Amino acid sequence: MELPIYMDGHATTRVDQRVVEAMLPFFGEQYGNAASRDHRFGWTARDAVADARAAVAALIGATAREVVFTSGATESNNLALKGVAEAARDRGNHIVTAQTEHRAVLDPCARLEQQGMQVTYLAVRGDGLVDPEALEAAMTPATVLVTLMVANNEIGVLQPIAELARLARSRGVPLHTDAAQAAGKVPIDVEADGIDLLSLTAHKLYGPKGVGALFVRRGVAVAPLLDGGGQEAGLRSGTLNVPAIVGFGRAAAICAEEMPREAARISRLRDRLRDGLQRSLAGVTVNGATTPRLPHNLNVHFDGLAGEQLLTGLDDVALSSGAACTSSSREPSHVLRALGLDDARARASIRFGLGRFNTEAEVDYVIEKLSSLVTQLRSPAPVFVLGTDDRDLPPEWRVESDSEVD
Ligand SMILES: *Cc1c(COP(=O)(O)O)cnc(C)c1O
Repeated sequence: MELPIYMDGHATTRVDQRVVEAMLPFFGEQYGNAASRDHRFGWTARDAVADARAAVAALIGATAREVVFTSGATESNNLALKGVAEAARDRGNHIVTAQTEHRAVLDPCARLEQQGMQVTYLAVRGDGLVDPEALEAAMTPATVLVTLMVANNEIGVLQPIAELARLARSRGVPLHTDAAQAAGKVPIDVEADGIDLLSLTAHKLYGPKGVGALFVRRGVAVAPLLDGGGQEAGLRSGTLNVPAIVGFGRAAAICAEEMPREAARISRLRDRLRDGLQRSLAGVTVNGATTPRLPHNLNVHFDGLAGEQLLTGLDDVALSSGAACTSSSREPSHVLRALGLDDARARASIRFGLGRFNTEAEVDYVIEKLSSLVTQLRSPAPVFVLGTDDRDLPPEWRVESDSEVD
């Protein structure tokens, strides 16, 4: 077993070696521009992009022509939200989302509000799920988009996306979903689930950073964010990042093929981690619904601790207390707050993101390491002050039995 151990798979994942191999030729001799029509370099790049597009489409049950390559889920979300809002300007000015969405949805919503859109941020239940009735009540004749994520990036809960999409569709409103965490980990089928727009990103599914996609159902109007060469059917101008797109395609194909086996293996590891922590420590509570939940996610609260304290003590395990994108601010997680946890409880929570490369031995190491750390942090530090009567100290500082040295 090698240290440090990586268990922050919701922030990013290691690029699979098979993905690296697929990308390499496109950094070398295959350097063509996928839009060059007049020579073999261009054709090779174009064909490789077409294969990748088909693989990404297959992962989510879409057709290849409905997949637009972007720089990642942040861009895909921006394109979906701002693009639909602009294209639908004459029809309405209202968007429905939820309080527990990723910043890459909440911040574009905030921008749109500055520009005159109305946004409803649905509260979630204590288990992190959106109540379909709340969605139904929130939609108005002015609603032009509903955007609700498939899987939450902190607590891993899976929204009843097919039901939510059906409700939106019954009111003639398209549904966008940020599937950055769900894609490649749990089955998604945009047809069966009735999803109209879907964002995903390669680096959360063992592909490279800086490449993602937006699925846009045929017939859904989206205005582009970027104007230029008209690539990606005019929705995303700019020369395609061919090596990254090839890697994304390979990563998506591997996920599609290995998902059932991998999800079963990783969820066993996750359960082992949860059970191990709960066996060796009291006061360990899972945040969010236990099911339906991403197979690789665990988010737990430790009674009587501060989260940062815990993470600084864990030098050889990569973990986080919340979203990487917001952890610089050190604010308590807006997701955990939305579940009803107070600031202290939110701060004393840790998110585990297991993945393809984690092993049972690593899980056992983390259980042991974390259990002894938590036990140590929970026990009050003994205080010895020479010449001071114990009874003058605050009760929590008093050293019980051994303090009376005769
Ligand atoms: C990681 C993540 C994003 C951002 O994806 P990038 O590709 O890094 O821009 C957006 N939404 C969710 C739910 C994520 O987990």
